[in-house]
Amino acid sequence: MVAPVTECQNCAFPDTELVRVRRVYLHPGPEAGGPEDGGTLDHGALDRGALDRVDVVDVVDEPEWWCVSCVSQYPCEIAPSPAD
Ligand SMILES: [Zn+2]
Repeated sequence: MVAPVTECQNCAFPDTELVRVRRVYLHPGPEAGGPEDGGTLDHGALDRGALDRVDVVDVVDEPEWWCVSCVSQYPCEIAPSPAD
């Protein structure tokens, strides 16, 4: 499936190899989010271990097209293509 857009919908960077994802909002609990926690979640952090450390996770239903850089830097989950 070809991306219907030609720039990242997160950072607006022009890219032809966008990844279909659903944005994930993480809401750390009061116990989390400290600097000792390592700060940002990196790529691959959205495993069960990482999700166990946050209280609330909201996944946006509407898929977006992100560049690989955003996919690696921001919480998201890969959205399956509707054509599959
Ligand atoms: Zn981007």
